Amino acid sequence: MTEVERHSYDVVVIGAGGAGLRAVIEARQRGLSVAVVCKSLFGKAHTVMAEGGCAASMGNANERDNWQVHFRDTMRGGKFLNNWRMAELHAREAPDRVWELETYGALFDRTADGRISQRNFGGHTYPRLAHVGDRTGLELIRTMQQKIVSLQQEDFAEHGDYEAKIKVFAECTITELIKDGDRIAGAFGYYRESGRFVLFETPAVVLATGGIGKSFKVTSNSWEYTGDGHALALRAGATLINMEFVQFHPTGMVWPPSVKGILVTEGVRGDGGVLKNSDDKRFMFEYIPDVFKGQYADNEDEADRWYTNQEENRRTPDLLPRDEVARAINSEVKAGRGSPHGGVFLDIASRLPAEEIRKRLPSMYHQFKELADVDITAEPMEVGPTCHYVMGGIEVDPDTAASVVPGLFAAGECSGGMHGSNRLGGNSLSDLLVFGRRAGLGAASYVEGLERRPVVSQERVDAAAKMAVAPFDPPANGVEENPYTLHTELQQSMNDLVGIIRKAEEIEQALAKLAEIKQRVHQVVVEGHRQFNPGWHLALDLRNMLMVSECVAKAALMRTESRGGHTRDDHPQMDAQWRNRLLVCQVADGDDVVPGVTVTPKQQEPLRQDLLELFELSELEKYYTEEELTTHPGRQA
Ligand code: FAD
Repeated sequence: MTEVERHSYDVVVIGAGGAGLRAVIEARQRGLSVAVVCKSLFGKAHTVMAEGGCAASMGNANERDNWQVHFRDTMRGGKFLNNWRMAELHAREAPDRVWELETYGALFDRTADGRISQRNFGGHTYPRLAHVGDRTGLELIRTMQQKIVSLQQEDFAEHGDYEAKIKVFAECTITELIKDGDRIAGAFGYYRESGRFVLFETPAVVLATGGIGKSFKVTSNSWEYTGDGHALALRAGATLINMEFVQFHPTGMVWPPSVKGILVTEGVRGDGGVLKNSDDKRFMFEYIPDVFKGQYADNEDEADRWYTNQEENRRTPDLLPRDEVARAINSEVKAGRGSPHGGVFLDIASRLPAEEIRKRLPSMYHQFKELADVDITAEPMEVGPTCHYVMGGIEVDPDTAASVVPGLFAAGECSGGMHGSNRLGGNSLSDLLVFGRRAGLGAASYVEGLERRPVVSQERVDAAAKMAVAPFDPPANGVEENPYTLHTELQQSMNDLVGIIRKAEEIEQALAKLAEIKQRVHQVVVEGHRQFNPGWHLALDLRNMLMVSECVAKAALMRTESRGGHTRDDHPQMDAQWRNRLLVCQVADGDDVVPGVTVTPKQQEPLRQDLLELFELSELEKYYTEEELTTHPGRQA
C-alpha cells in the first residue's frame, strides 16, 4: 500500500492565484473548511505578474461608463462567441468586487479627487482599469492573502487554531482527481520538495490552476502554466470549450533571446505609447478591420486628441483588441518593415516626459533597463507577439462555476466561455474576482446539499501513485526519452504550427508530431529520487501539456474560419455560421498516460433578448446570421 499523508476538507481549492484565493475566502465565509493547494510558493502565483489593471465599469474616469458598456465591449472583444451570461455577470459584478477589495485593504491609485483611478486599455470604450502602477496583480494577491490571514485570526479566536478552517499547502502539485462513482471524492498529489504523496479527501474541488502557455515556445507565462487544471478536469470526465482560441499578446519583448516573450504591458499604449515600423510610420491606422470601422480614429491627430478628450474623438487603433494588433505586427514584420530583432517599435519615449514614464510604468522601466539595457524614457522598445492567455477552458455553469462532473468547479483562466474568442486586457483580473467568488459559493452550496460524503478507494490512490512514479522505471524496450527534449519539441511544434497564424496542413503536421511525442512520453525516464527533482516534475507536467495541446490543435483544425485568437490563413474570413458553435473537448480513448481527446461541435444558447437589444442591428449584422436576428426590434420595425 502506498504511503500517503491524508487530509480531509469540505472544499479543496487547487491554485492560489486570484481566482483560487477569492474562492477560498467565499467558501470559508460560508463556514466550510478549506484547503488551498499550490504548486509554487504561496504568494507567487501567476496573478502576481498582472501589470495593467482590473477592468470594472466604476465610471470614475468617465461617468458614462456602466455595466452595459462593459458588457458590449467584452462581447465585441470576444467576437460574440462569449458565453453571454458569464459576460453579463462579469460586467455587472466587477465594480463590487473591486470596491470589496478595498474593504480588504487594497490600495489602488487615485484620481485627483480621491476616487480609484482607471486607465485605458485595448477594446474598452472608457478608461476602466483600476490599477496600482503596473503592479496590480501583486496588490490583488497581497490583499487577498491579508484577508485570509484575518480570517485565520478569527478562526484562532474561536477554535484556538489558526488553520482550523483554512490551511495552505504550498509547493504541492496535484496530479490526479479521484472520484467515487461519478462524483469528486478527492485530489492526489505530491510535495515538490520531498516528493512525498498527499491525498485530500473532499466532496468539492475548485480548479483555479491558470493557463497553458508553457506548451508554446515564446510565451509571457511562468513555469506554472502547464495546463494542469485543464487536463485534470478532462481526465475526471469534464469538458473543455474554446480551446482553439489562444491569445497572442501583441507586445512581448523580442530581444535579447533569453527574455523573448516577457510581457510589455498594454498600459504602455494605454498611457500614450504608439507602435511604429522601421519606416517610423504609425502603422495601426492601416489595420482597422471592417467590424471596428467608425469606432477608431483614422488619423494621428484625432488619435492623439483622444487621450485627453474622449467625448469628441475616437480612440487610437494602437488600442484595438489584442488579436487585431498582434496580426498587424505579424504582417508588418512579414512585409520587411520590422525592427532589427524581428519585432516592431513601441515608442513612449517621444510621447511622455521621462519622469512621468518612470512614475507610471516603473516595472517596464526596470524590465528593459535590466534585461535589455534599453532606457524606455529615451528610446523605443522592440516588441512582438507572445503566447499570453488561453480563452479556452473547463466548461462551467456561469452562475455556480460547476463543471459537468458533480463536485468539480472551475474559475479563472482555467475555465472557459467568458472571453469568447478573445479576451480584453484587464478582464482577467475582474474575471478572477467575480467567478472565484461564485466558485466558492457554488462549491459551498454543493457541499451543504450533500446527503452522503463520497469515499476515496485505496485502489484509486494506489493507481494515482503508480502513475506518478512511472517515470522512474526504465522502459521495457530500453529506449529512453528525456522530458526536457520532449518538452522542447512540443513547444516548438505548437509555436510554429499552431501559433498565431494557422493553416490545415501545418495543424495536421502538429497533430502528427503530438501523436509521436505521446508515444515517446511512455519511455520518459528521470534520474535520481523523488526529493526535489525538476526532471520528474516536468515528466508529470508533460502529460498535461500534451493533452491540452491536442485539444488546441484538434479544435483549431475543425474551426474553418478566423475569429479572435484563432486565425486560419486558409480560411481568413469570420463565418457567421461558426459564431454560435462551440467546440467541446472530451477524453476519448483509454491510454492511461495521455488519454486522447475528441472534439464535438455544440450550439450555444442564443443571447437573451434584452442583451441582444443592447446592440445596434447594424453592428450585429457583422457577426450574426439573418435567422438569428429576426427577433431584434430593428428587424421588426
Ligand atoms: P494563477 O494566478 O496563475 O494561479 C494558478 C495557481 O494554480 C498557482 O497558484 C499555481 O501554483 C497553481 N497550480 C497550477 N497547477 C497546479 C497543480 N497541478 N497543483 C497545484 N497547484 C497548481 N490580466 C488582467 O486582467 N490584467 C492585467 O494587467 C494582466 N497582466 C498580465 C501580465 C502578465 C505578464 C501575464 C502573464 C498575464 C497578465 N494577465 C492580466 C492575465 C492574468 O494575470 C491571468 O490570466 C490571471 O492572473 C490568472 O489567474 P488564475 O487565478 O486563474 O491563475
